[in-house]
Amino acid sequence: MDHFIYHDGILHAEKVPIPGIVAQVGTPFYVYSTATLERHFYLFDDALKEFDHLVCYAMKAASNQAIIKTLAALGAGMDVVSGGEYQRAISAGVPTDRIIFSGVGKTRAEMEMIVRGGVRQVNIESEAEMLILDEIAQANSEKVPVAIRVNPDVDAKTHSKIATGKSENKFGIPISKARDVYAMAGKLKGLDVIGIDVHIGSQVTDLEPFALAYKKVAELTKILRADGHDIRRLDLGGGLGIPYSRSNGPLPLPKDYGEMIGREVGHLGCELEIEPGRLIAGNAGLLVSSVIYIKQGEERKFLILDAAMNDLVRPAMYDAHHEIIPVKEPNDCADSVIFDVVGPVCETGDTFARECTLTSLKDGDLVAFRSAGAYGAVMASEYNSRPLIPEVLVKDDQFAIIRPRPTLEELINRDKLPPWL
Ligand SMILES: *Cc1c(COP(=O)(O)O)cnc(C)c1O
Repeated sequence: MDHFIYHDGILHAEKVPIPGIVAQVGTPFYVYSTATLERHFYLFDDALKEFDHLVCYAMKAASNQAIIKTLAALGAGMDVVSGGEYQRAISAGVPTDRIIFSGVGKTRAEMEMIVRGGVRQVNIESEAEMLILDEIAQANSEKVPVAIRVNPDVDAKTHSKIATGKSENKFGIPISKARDVYAMAGKLKGLDVIGIDVHIGSQVTDLEPFALAYKKVAELTKILRADGHDIRRLDLGGGLGIPYSRSNGPLPLPKDYGEMIGREVGHLGCELEIEPGRLIAGNAGLLVSSVIYIKQGEERKFLILDAAMNDLVRPAMYDAHHEIIPVKEPNDCADSVIFDVVGPVCETGDTFARECTLTSLKDGDLVAFRSAGAYGAVMASEYNSRPLIPEVLVKDDQFAIIRPRPTLEELINRDKLPPWL
């Protein structure tokens, strides 16, 4: 559920009419709903209420300071995957004991930053990384809480580019080697081995792969405890999928996910952490764009928008589907037209949807891409020298620009000429 609905024939974000935002910021832009972000956080928080738990928002899904602050104010922790995300969380005022540092290739500089700054836990991804973290921790007279990310070798049944829990993926240590790696970790004086971490992938729309992975984590917990490790925290990762299209059947809800977690690992008495990103931010954001031209090709009709693959790369990168709706609500007898919806970038990959049935539209009309809040703005680039598009946050009847559109001058002035030119 989200808070983007038609009122009086016009698409609104909560109580703000989209054309009102367009008048102030132009198109294209991203707009997020505070009420949806909050609602989604509470769905997860409630789903685990029987357990000592922390919902750590996976910041990489959408990392604007205003979004982080909105969620942190509700008590959310943050899952960060780089020094940059760590700094973003700190700047938004997230307490360090609510920040988990994940990521498959943490650099020495990043680990120094978080060891000095403070962190809830580091999720270790390899033996090599573990040794360097230990060295840095000892050099700073710290004992860093760590969980080791295990790769459970389960098929998350999602797009291959976002599956992370198969043994062929680069993530975690093979679960079969876990005992040895924990034994090694237990001897390192800079580390406090507190738990196990697992994350099998993103846009997972079936609970079965999660259940399989969590079963393996439960077994491992018992084995490691028998080996003398005080396993007291389980980080169960993120990955619960969202409906990108109305034709997606009913998907598991956070409540179902929480019940499954209870069944699989609830008896272990561990503190539980989850790291949802997409389900919190995805349906909390729209990408709003204008029609530049309608172009009749030989076989197809093209709807050329002012948004492009550099603004929302998911269709080009993952063949993702986003529902595209007109900002002006079509009436029941409106003609429907079949369009290929494309952006202006010089790549055929700059296609948002093929043979998409839309209402008849004309130049200047506004459309919105639904479910664009996660992995949208954060993955944008300036390809074709198109400035990053603004982000807007709505709360009830108010809206604020939370990242302005850079001017072309700002974009160009970031380049520096060498002395010989
Ligand atoms: C990407 C990621 C997440 C979030 O995944 P979603 O599908 O957005 O919920 C959580 N944890 C880790 C380690 C990740 O890499």
